[in-house]
Amino acid sequence: MAKILDVRARSVWDSRGRTTVEAEVFVKGALGRAITPAGASTGSGEAKSIETRKAVHLINTEIKSLLTGKDLDQESVDHALIALDGTPDKSRLGGNAIVAVSLACAHALAAVKKKPLWQLLLGKRKPVMPVPQIQIFGGGAHAHGSMDLQDFMIICTGAGSFTESLEWTAQVYQAAGARLAKRGALRGVADEGGYWPAFKTNEEALAELTGAISDAGFEPGADIGIALDIAATQLWRGGRYHLALEKRTLSAAQLHSMLLGWIDRYPIVSIEDPFGEHDAEAMASFTRTAGSRIQIVGDDFFVTDAARVKAADGACNAVLLKPNQVGTLTETLACWRAAQEAGYGAIVSARSGETEDVSIVHLAVGWGVPQLKVGSFARSERMAKWNEGIRIEEALGNDRLPYPARKLFGRR
Ligand code: PGA
Ligand code: ZN
Repeated sequence: MAKILDVRARSVWDSRGRTTVEAEVFVKGALGRAITPAGASTGSGEAKSIETRKAVHLINTEIKSLLTGKDLDQESVDHALIALDGTPDKSRLGGNAIVAVSLACAHALAAVKKKPLWQLLLGKRKPVMPVPQIQIFGGGAHAHGSMDLQDFMIICTGAGSFTESLEWTAQVYQAAGARLAKRGALRGVADEGGYWPAFKTNEEALAELTGAISDAGFEPGADIGIALDIAATQLWRGGRYHLALEKRTLSAAQLHSMLLGWIDRYPIVSIEDPFGEHDAEAMASFTRTAGSRIQIVGDDFFVTDAARVKAADGACNAVLLKPNQVGTLTETLACWRAAQEAGYGAIVSARSGETEDVSIVHLAVGWGVPQLKVGSFARSERMAKWNEGIRIEEALGNDRLPYPARKLFGRR
């Protein structure tokens, strides 16, 4: 087994112009490199990030001493990092330091084996390309609250491949932009590259998105479905869900009815965080009512924590997997395994603060996670990931590859 010769870190810049951690793990004749992303609508149970300068310093000192001379083995490296940190929320070394090193180790291993990371992780298992969830309108914490809801996304449920999904998405993205410009409702793009619109209600975004799907020549529902991230933890204050745009507040029961009405009226196939991270009862009740019709995803609700997924007891039916939410690749993989055991769907996801790092695309393909969410269809920190998916699909041989969109989102 290869030995780790050195570990180094530096401060680099992310897509919001904020500092973040880049780590490098050196082995004989090769190195692995990774950059940590950052969230804006974070769950309270996430691994804690510390100041970038401090995280870089800790990698260049404590983590370097810990790992230099050790075997390059993902699980033992990750367990050593967890032990060295010694806190339940990774707040001493920082989740942002730990995840960069954990991912850099994976890349170093791939470099040693002279294989792309996805191929190393896949081993002998049959490959599947993940189905993209792509943001068209961005709101919430990613657009200074211009809309209450965070993500209005599409899933090309009728597409036959990853590459075709992107081709369809480009058409919808352009059609949506043209509709907004015509109405004078286009304000620019939000943090993940989706349009930042001026709407009067949240439902207007749903109507416009459905219209954009039709304008692009697709049948809403049959060809392309809508996925929402309500990011409802952000809306919760004083016992009510606040819709600032509409100047009203809702109880959990009212939010439940509003969402059910939307599912009836629009081609919605997936809703993420429909209720706040604390509201397990509302989440379970919603899943009991709507879970046979749509995918219900826990993001802030699960924070990529296998133990929370195991304890969920019917709340949600899918899990978002964000490596920096939990800190190490080994823990992220454990959460994916817990999701599989619970019969849940899963989506590997980027954060709202991203970089040119494309590791998550490799994780999705390598682990066989059937969906991928990396933001919108603009800005290079997003497009780098979609483009990496195109390369991987090509390497796997597009025409013979199973693509699970219809299986996952065919009429339930
Ligand atoms: P975040 O948002 O990266 O700002 O947390 C992404 C999401 O909620 O899925
Ligand atoms: Zn989310």
